[in-house]
Amino acid sequence: MVQDMFKGIAVVDHKDWKNPKKVEFPAKTFYDNDIDIKIEACGVCGSDIHCAAGHWGDKAMPLVVGHEIIGKVVKLGSKCNTGLKVGDRVGVGAQVFSCLDCDRCKNNNEPYCPKFVTTYSQPYADGYVSQGGYANFVRVHEHFAVKIPENIPSHLAAPLLCGGITVYSPLLRNGCGPGKKVGIVGIGGIGHMGVLFAKAMGAEVYAISRSNAKKEDAMKLGADHYIATKEDPDWGTKYFDTFDLIVVCASSLSDIDFNVMPRAMKVGGRIVSISVPEENEVLTLKPFGLLGVSIANSMLGSIKEIEQLLKLVSEKNIKIWVETLPIGEAGVKEAFERMDKGDVRYRFTLVDYEKEFD
Ligand code: NAP
Ligand code: ZN
Ligand code: ZN
Repeated sequence: MVQDMFKGIAVVDHKDWKNPKKVEFPAKTFYDNDIDIKIEACGVCGSDIHCAAGHWGDKAMPLVVGHEIIGKVVKLGSKCNTGLKVGDRVGVGAQVFSCLDCDRCKNNNEPYCPKFVTTYSQPYADGYVSQGGYANFVRVHEHFAVKIPENIPSHLAAPLLCGGITVYSPLLRNGCGPGKKVGIVGIGGIGHMGVLFAKAMGAEVYAISRSNAKKEDAMKLGADHYIATKEDPDWGTKYFDTFDLIVVCASSLSDIDFNVMPRAMKVGGRIVSISVPEENEVLTLKPFGLLGVSIANSMLGSIKEIEQLLKLVSEKNIKIWVETLPIGEAGVKEAFERMDKGDVRYRFTLVDYEKEFD
């Protein structure tokens, strides 16, 4: 059987990750529940940087990252039955497969299924290593494609599919809402969406960043308060007994003092981290500080939660802050270089796919 070929912008060597190359690569086998999506936009997630740079170990090359994908359905498998049609505009996030049959999958916890396959750099059961959205097409199981509401433009929809859902799920699952004091630590791509969503959900929101550099932006995003942790190293004591929930959205925990943060929590308060830092990073904690406080970790969100998030963004007309770059070797290089320096306010979305690939 001749395999279909897709085109993408790939990392070809971790050591030279900031010089991605245009490549052709074989598509995965098309199964009966699969769909093909012609991509028109893809966000640049902090995870793309970690994976491309080799922070999570050596990955198979060429490596096409990107898991905040928006595009049009162009082909449907014979057993597709979720109601998607050719021409529908859909999004795909950081998960492209799970068993859909275990208790976790059946209870809207697909991200925690042991058969989870991530959108790029992970082998499927048949051995094919998944490839992401810095490409002209993506082929996925239809369950992992979600219809995008008409009033959200593709460049603003893309980052919701991974970054957005990653902060929305822990906000939703941990009671963010009116009367709650919620902190967002790390005001990057995910954190800035966290401020917007927590506010839209009705909470009193504290943006918590290392320096004062993002204060003005955080206030424009709707934060009610701002804490610069490096300016105020003992901020946990200053804000004693304040927070119901803190979601940690930083790409590294090296500059976050986990012995200070719990002091600012209410009894029963929860600190949920979504950080997936460089693989050798370790977290040290003094157990004393944790009395009465829970610490947890969260992974993406379910398809149902993605649909809920899209509805919230559509109905409340929430505008995330995005800078677009054209897909291509130069555009991806610029995205990688600037993300690595933290020089983005606050998410890149790659666009102009037809110019590069058609
Ligand atoms: P990003 O746009 O690069 O933002 C990261 C933010 O982290 C920065 O803006 C900065 O905020 C803070 N930061 C950077 N270096 C730090 C350090 N050494 N110590 C403390 N804070 C630091 O990245 P992102 O796309 O938001 O992604 C953030 C993390 O989420 C990444 O690790 C990514 O892999 C992970 N992620 C997890 C999931 C999941 O399901 N769990 C899903 C997607 C992504 P300030 O300048 O405000 O301090
Ligand atoms: Zn499962
Ligand atoms: Zn991501």
